[in-house]
Amino acid sequence: MEKVVIIGTGCAGLTAALYTARANLQPLVLTGKQPGGLLTTTTIVENYPGFPEGIDGYELMNRMQKQAERFGARVKFATVEAVDLSKQPFVLTVDEERVEAETIIIASGAGYRHLGLQSEHKLENKGVTYCATCDGALPLFRNQPLVVVGGGDSACEEALYLTRFGSDVYMVHRRDALRASKIMAERALSNPKIKPVWDSVVTEILDANQDKVTGVRLKNLKTNAETVLPCAGVFVAIGHVPNTQLFRGVLDMDQTGYIIPKRGTATNVPGVFVAGDCADRVYRQAVTAAGLGCAAAIEAERYLAGRNE
Ligand code: NAP
Repeated sequence: MEKVVIIGTGCAGLTAALYTARANLQPLVLTGKQPGGLLTTTTIVENYPGFPEGIDGYELMNRMQKQAERFGARVKFATVEAVDLSKQPFVLTVDEERVEAETIIIASGAGYRHLGLQSEHKLENKGVTYCATCDGALPLFRNQPLVVVGGGDSACEEALYLTRFGSDVYMVHRRDALRASKIMAERALSNPKIKPVWDSVVTEILDANQDKVTGVRLKNLKTNAETVLPCAGVFVAIGHVPNTQLFRGVLDMDQTGYIIPKRGTATNVPGVFVAGDCADRVYRQAVTAAGLGCAAAIEAERYLAGRNE
């Protein structure tokens, strides 16, 4: 039986892995479908303390994994299919195999929020994408007008990155001011290639019939006017949805699926702890996720010590 199973290998999961490994608990750390988490899809991380020049997101996660492994964490590329938290030991189904665990740290992070349009679904990976760093350099986007949807830090980051490839980058935002941090907003809006389209939403991505992106249909929310903006790519950056479907009905969560900790990182099931973006709708930073991963590891260690007294 495992003492600790950690679900997720973003900043929260790998920090929990480091701490539980150093506590001699030999954690089993399950990557899920995206080893390293969402940070691996970003370019330079400029706000993680200790890296004055910034650090590549993939590199940062790689280093965190190596650091945890150095102390005995076992990182496995595997996906959790089901969990039974109704009694001790907890039982996880991991790639069809049964794994028993005394404690679980959930650090399953969040995925990209979708616009919810049919045309978006049909054209996904055919010009519609959720990650500029992953797809921005593709030939179909070179020297073409591109659209980024959203007004947060992610949208600014995506737009700035895409200025390397696109002819123009339109930032379509539903309000008349960006939500992004001041520094990111200023950087984006002062870039001559980035053109904000305020008070507007995408109502359709064109053209599903041609099986490629040729433009977006926009609606101005103030005037109700509809226009078509030609483009070759649509980069959706409108936030995230927590990866918590496995725990629905078992762990306390809010309406949007964020797990609500009972106290610190403890959940309503004793022995199950939570850390990072799957339980944080407020801060959602790499460093806060790492901090919560550390806290969850310490809580798990104390819980195990209490059981064995
Ligand atoms: P976010 O801050 O939640 O912003 C989401 C944006 O998408 C908002 O502008 C929102 O509009 C818009 N939006 C949401 N649903 C929409 C919909 N259905 N249709 C159209 N627009 C929609 O998300 P984020 O930008 O991904 O950032 C998440 C967190 O990560 C934040 O804490 C951010 O600071 C952090 N982050 C930091 C950096 C950095 O420091 N370099 C980079 C990336 C992310 P409204 O503004 O109207 O709500």
